[in-house]
This record gives sequence, C-alpha cells and structure tokens, in this order.
Amino acid sequence: CSVCGDSAICLHYGVRTCEGCKGFFKRTVQKGAKYSCLAEKCCPVDKRRRNRCQFCRFQKCLAVGM
Ligand SMILES: [Zn+2]
Ligand SMILES: [Zn+2]
Repeated sequence: CSVCGDSAICLHYGVRTCEGCKGFFKRTVQKGAKYSCLAEKCCPVDKRRRNRCQFCRFQKCLAVGM
C-alpha cells in the first residue's frame, strides 16, 4: 500500500493501496468529510498507526496520487 505500507495487490484510483485505505479514501470523498489533525499535520501513517489520524492519512492518499 502506497499510503500505509500494508500488503496491497490491486490498484485503486491509480495507486496501489490496501482495502483499508481504498475504503477510507472512498468514504472520505463520498461524504466530503473534513478532518483535522491534532498534531503538526505530519503524523506517521503506517499499517499500525493509519487509523490514528484521519487528516494525515487522507493527505497521504492525495500525496501518492489518489
Ligand atoms: Zn493502506
Ligand atoms: Zn495528523
């Protein structure tokens, strides 16, 4: 997964991502959800910590080209 580093088999939105990040990205776009970061907008996004900060996870999604 380009976002969290979990194992990813398929391309979603042009980027290789796991099901978790695919679903997260889809939900965010569909709902038009706005997140905010409680820290410095540079939280680590990896398999273990990807649910900790939705703002930074979504930023990472955008950064990798979703
Ligand atoms: Zn992922
Ligand atoms: Zn954050």
